[in-house]
Amino acid sequence: MLGDLDPEGVIRWRGDVLRFDATGQAQVLCDQVVEVHAGGSFGPLRAPKAGERVEHDCRNCLIAPGFIDVHAHYPQIDVIGSPAAGLLEWLEQHTFPCEQRFEDPAVAQDAARRFLGEMLRHGVTSAAVYCTAHPHSVDALMLEAERRAMAVIAGKSLQDRNSPPGLLDDTENSLRDTETLIGRWHNRGRLRYAITPRFAPTCSDRQLHGAAEIARAYPGVVVQSHVAENLREIAWVRSLYPKDRSYLAVYDRFGLVRPHSIWGHCIHIDAEDRALLEAQGAVAAVCPTSNAFLGSGRFDFAQAGFAWALASDVGGGSSFSPFRTMLAAYETARLGGVYLRPGTLWWHHTGAAAQWLGWEHCASGIAASGWADFVVLDPCTTPLLERRWQLAESLDEQLFALIVLGDDRHVRHTVVAGRVQTPTPP
Ligand SMILES: [Zn+2]
Repeated sequence: MLGDLDPEGVIRWRGDVLRFDATGQAQVLCDQVVEVHAGGSFGPLRAPKAGERVEHDCRNCLIAPGFIDVHAHYPQIDVIGSPAAGLLEWLEQHTFPCEQRFEDPAVAQDAARRFLGEMLRHGVTSAAVYCTAHPHSVDALMLEAERRAMAVIAGKSLQDRNSPPGLLDDTENSLRDTETLIGRWHNRGRLRYAITPRFAPTCSDRQLHGAAEIARAYPGVVVQSHVAENLREIAWVRSLYPKDRSYLAVYDRFGLVRPHSIWGHCIHIDAEDRALLEAQGAVAAVCPTSNAFLGSGRFDFAQAGFAWALASDVGGGSSFSPFRTMLAAYETARLGGVYLRPGTLWWHHTGAAAQWLGWEHCASGIAASGWADFVVLDPCTTPLLERRWQLAESLDEQLFALIVLGDDRHVRHTVVAGRVQTPTPP
């Protein structure tokens, strides 16, 4: 019966449902029927009727909101796990050479297909993504996202200095291309465009100024960039912008720190930077596996009074898995003296991310009228997690067991806009 529509065009899923309230408090509703309309939205949750047969019987599984990854680089899928002494060496030795190959549109198309496939396999249904400097790299990703009905924010990397041949922008062309791409992709279905200065060291004043002008002209467009990731990078920014108070202040001077803007890392920031992020309604993309892998430092959860959401930062990050990211965030917080509850970690990788990005269509999780983006998690596919799951005496313990022991083997289905995406449909 898999995939069969009932006469009203509704597909029904049955299982335990993980939900969050507006403050991120987790709750499980046992044995529910989740109705999904043919158009891709959720119907109301309800108890099963006596003797009811459903298209997808997932009892003993957890039906949970799809994960949202707020910072990842699709061109870097093939540099994941490349060792280097630090961020700048890693960019030079592995990342830039890899991104140069995206001059060939076929390389971009192949990477986009594999990257989104990998995200879905790990239960990620939406993401904010960096492309390369090549405009066609945006087309490749957006087309693949559209084919899968995924909500994706993405943009062409802006970099008109300190970049190798093949990635070095002509300033005026890069700004023109950005506007063309906004016209082509922004608000097309579930897609949104992100103006994407790679990071301050690779952007001239003119390019940052132009990026901010475009951002002002298109208020719904997202701005995403990197800030305060690594100490050597920060020293470099200081030498390039000696008059600015901080790295974040450089972007702010141009008007780029604004509501729903996404700032990768935010590790080495101070009280003024934190106040600025909060005042502007900007979002920190917290990338704990990347920060550990590249030895960049630890995000300070104790002082995060501003919006933050979790991200893989593939390929500086070492895994596509939200479970790995949540565990790394937990460990990072723990080393900083902060205890993050499992529901909090989960919330900052799902509904909170959607809320802060203004993605209302998936902010409410599994609730009537939202887009039906969800994962079906089966804790019983590995013996250790199965046992730990059964021994758990509270929801916190269950969620924590999944965070610590879970991986792609436990993602039975990933569903986007009501359509089963993994296992890959025939
Ligand atoms: Zn990044």
